[in-house]
Amino acid sequence: MRGLELFLSLMLAAHTACAGWLHEDADIMGTRITVELFHDDTAVARQGVDAVMAEMRRIDSDMSPWIETSELARLNRDAATRPVIVSDELFKLIRTSLHFSDLTHGAFDITFASVGFLYDYRKGVRPDDRQRQQATELINYHNLLLDEDSHSIAYGKPGVRIDLGGIAKGHAVDRCIALLQAIGIKQALVTAGGDSRMIGDRWGGRPWNIGVRDPRDEKKLVAVIPLENVAVSTSGDYQRYFEENGVRYHHIINPTSGDSARGMHSATIIGPDATTTDALSTSVFVLGVEQGLALVNRLPDIDAILVDAKGQLHYSDGLLPAKNPANNVKPPAPHPQP
Ligand code: AMP
Ligand code: MG
Repeated sequence: MRGLELFLSLMLAAHTACAGWLHEDADIMGTRITVELFHDDTAVARQGVDAVMAEMRRIDSDMSPWIETSELARLNRDAATRPVIVSDELFKLIRTSLHFSDLTHGAFDITFASVGFLYDYRKGVRPDDRQRQQATELINYHNLLLDEDSHSIAYGKPGVRIDLGGIAKGHAVDRCIALLQAIGIKQALVTAGGDSRMIGDRWGGRPWNIGVRDPRDEKKLVAVIPLENVAVSTSGDYQRYFEENGVRYHHIINPTSGDSARGMHSATIIGPDATTTDALSTSVFVLGVEQGLALVNRLPDIDAILVDAKGQLHYSDGLLPAKNPANNVKPPAPHPQP
């Protein structure tokens, strides 16, 4: 179970019992998608839920590196030999990814996939040291050459690959929220794995409660945050991993080593949109506690809750009571009340 899902699923009873609220789950993009929303016209609410699921499926079929016919797979196949013209949406998302690479001095880098494809976490497969070092030389976002006029992308070296797994779910959540707003829905929560965004408040005028799970115990929460009109993403070393000789190999890769980043157990980011929180949760996980908090504290409207490699909690300045008396973080409730 991923970062926020446990707690979110505990919150459903009240919504589904209330007319006009709809809730649905589906497995898309290799993850659990959840949508909860309200409209007093049930037909519009239904239309909203269906639009979210259809949009998630569309983005998966365009951006999955594992679907051979996806735009992204085509890019990985052809862009090292010639520039490939891509859709507006993919071009902009790759440009946004490069923005986060610049912001994080390369901690966020979609070319991590040049080594990432050598791992299979389900089967416990990883590259040996020589393979990893060779492939790591290809990780460098400067190897992606974007042409703004033609909207084409070329790879500077053969062997370079990209994967949008660190940002595409957040992008999908933002797209879905925009679709819901366009049909007049004002209260909704959309979640794709560890990435969520909420608009409006919950039934009864209360905020949405978001729980950060204990990275080493999926039944426990380490913090509960009441939120409205924000996005929140969690990256964790418990989402996709295997262990070998006591070492955990997981899906968040440090671009300088090609190995899993091991500075913390989870990074939760709160911010205005899910594309940003998704990219930053992956980035801050790679940066580690000190550099990660320094980055978050520099950025307006961004907060963080980190669980370090010893299980200790760290908050960004905006969530510390001493620096911000209006902070919202509460200790976890043993049985969250709807
Ligand atoms: P998240 O759960 O949002 O942190 O996303 C994890 C996913 O991001 C992984 O499964 C990879 O697809 C991708 N990823 C891993 N390492 C990096 C990195 N250093 N920069 C960008 N994306 C990454
Ligand atoms: Mg992410």
